[in-house]
Amino acid sequence: SSAPSPIKATLFPGDGIGPEIAVSVKQVFQAAEVPIEWEEHYVGDQIDPRTQSFLTWESLESVRRNRVGLKGPMATPVGKGHRSLNLTLRKELNLYANVRPCYSLPGYKTRYDNVNLVTIRENTEGEYSGLEHQVVRGVVESLKIITRQASLRVAEYAFHYAKTHGRERVSAIHKANIMQKTDGLFLKCCREVAEKYPEITYEEVVIDNCCMMLVKNPALFDVLVMPNLYGDIISDLCAGLVGGLGLTASCNIGEAGIALAEAVHGSAPDIAGKNLANPTALLLSAVTMLRHLELYDKAELIQDAILNTIAEGKYRTADLGGSSSTTDFTKAICGHL
Ligand code: NAD
Repeated sequence: SSAPSPIKATLFPGDGIGPEIAVSVKQVFQAAEVPIEWEEHYVGDQIDPRTQSFLTWESLESVRRNRVGLKGPMATPVGKGHRSLNLTLRKELNLYANVRPCYSLPGYKTRYDNVNLVTIRENTEGEYSGLEHQVVRGVVESLKIITRQASLRVAEYAFHYAKTHGRERVSAIHKANIMQKTDGLFLKCCREVAEKYPEITYEEVVIDNCCMMLVKNPALFDVLVMPNLYGDIISDLCAGLVGGLGLTASCNIGEAGIALAEAVHGSAPDIAGKNLANPTALLLSAVTMLRHLELYDKAELIQDAILNTIAEGKYRTADLGGSSSTTDFTKAICGHL
């Protein structure tokens, strides 16, 4: 019998520490025998007129073709006349939902040890539509756009995620008491979708109350779905509950089933090239990509190896208070597989 052909996935190693932590992912995937073949693409050093950014058209085509990818941090080049890399990816690939699982890492002590939630952020509209102008001197206006289409799409994704990931509850986070039309429409869409998922408990939580509850007892939450701005803030708040951006995975979901996983931290130019970077966030992001591909066994295997390595405490990178290099930490993870 012949082995099934590998799944192709796009890999953007990115800038700064990106290539170092991408090597770590490649090594761990190889050691775990994950059936993935990486198509590597780097950010170009000049503007590609077809994307109006430093991202090449070929790299975007690669993601469109493979439908899955992993992205390291990208440094935003300074200068005018081009679009930001992350914005280009979001627009070109229509990445409409940002998904961030947040759970307490055993052995890495924070204020809480029972966090296990997922934030799902609408990623295309709301206050981030880029529609701002000056009305008269001293008065500016910003348009918050909420559409039925984008709200239904992200709500649908949240409930589908809850169902396929064994989650029991979806909380829609809003401020519809004040933003009656915009957040009101968002909630209406969530309710419509909730009716199609009677097995999932649905609730609505006002954002200010949500913040208080998250800080007092994050275990109260399961899956949270929300418009863009709230999602931006709440997702970082949740990352802080479990140890910060260096440990947090994220995955962007796009049209036609595209999943582009990415670590949420930046390119860390201060430690780039020194074999000091912590690859955990990129590795855990890669794990979300495996779950998207329904490679659940490999996802569990790798996640357990990462968590066991951190819990054991023998090999930890400097940001977690240890003194291991990126390569030694990676070797330790491979040893736990
Ligand atoms: P940063 O996240 O790169 O660094 C902040 C601090 O955290 C630094 O001290 C860094 O050493 C540390 N750090 C970050 N990731 C780490 C890791 N994996 N292991 C150990 N330490 C880590 O944020 P910044 O300095 O504000 O940004 C640097 C560059 O990254 C900028 O060009 C920015 O535009 C870009 N950036 C990109 C993304 C992305 O591609 N998604 C996100 C944020 C910032």
